[in-house]
Amino acid sequence: MFYLLKYFIQMKILLRNSDLNEAILGSTNVGFVPTMGSLHKGHISLIKKSLINCNKTIVSIFVNPTQFNNKKDYKKYPRNIKKDLKILKRLKVNFVYKPDKNEIYNFKNKIKAKLSKKDKILCAKYRKGHFEGVIDVMTRLTKIVNPSKIFMGEKDFQQLFLVKNHIESNFKSKVILCKTVRDKNKVALSSRNLLLSKKDLIKAGKITKELFLFKKKLSKKNITKNLILIKKNKLEKLYNINVEYLEIRNKKNLQLSNKIKDSKIFFAYYLKNIRLIDNF
Ligand code: AMP
Repeated sequence: MFYLLKYFIQMKILLRNSDLNEAILGSTNVGFVPTMGSLHKGHISLIKKSLINCNKTIVSIFVNPTQFNNKKDYKKYPRNIKKDLKILKRLKVNFVYKPDKNEIYNFKNKIKAKLSKKDKILCAKYRKGHFEGVIDVMTRLTKIVNPSKIFMGEKDFQQLFLVKNHIESNFKSKVILCKTVRDKNKVALSSRNLLLSKKDLIKAGKITKELFLFKKKLSKKNITKNLILIKKNKLEKLYNINVEYLEIRNKKNLQLSNKIKDSKIFFAYYLKNIRLIDNF
């Protein structure tokens, strides 16, 4: 009976904070999946985890302008709301929160996001203001939604690291880590992959496989700066790409590491003019 009831409950699309507050009033164990839309199987895995672990699931779709350090990048970010809503309906999420800029930014956020010097690494070093924008919007969204759990992907590891620290020290909400979902060529799914040609997506697959292999080889080695530099140069030459960073860092504190144990490879590069990131 309960199963049937759940099946017939309609997904609600909420545009305003007041509608959202009303809709979730009295709900407990609310799961929240923040996204920028153009949903793929990576997002879907987060949503499924929330549906299994929470009483109600809210998915937000909001392309946040303040986290783009480049206006062009914001404009060309893929948007596909019709398809997204179809996917979310099929998954039977309870609520889709689709605010406009005004709903998010019409109140003052007193919990300021400030990155310390040791945080200005990896993407924070190359995308000025990006994480300040991400942390600010995540603080606002957490205030509005007040979820028990927030589901976020390991694909954006540094984002997860910074947001988890910030949110869990200011709110009761817990940030839950979700594994990276990859395509058949091992490329991490990303909305930005839609901007790549088929040929470039295949190339991205070859690059990804090479990095998995590199990690395997590193397990037997003492990692030196030179070893990493040689790999970076080789990748750039072989695939005609621009590597922004290739670094080995500890998983717990993101400090540079010279052993692969307890560490990850962090990688960002440009394939033509599309910026891709991954970690292994
Ligand atoms: P985005 O829409 O790109 O802002 O991503 C929304 C959430 O989905 C973030 O927590 C991402 O880390 C997560 N995500 C994006 N791609 C993947 C993926 N391939 N596997 C797992 N999670 C992902």
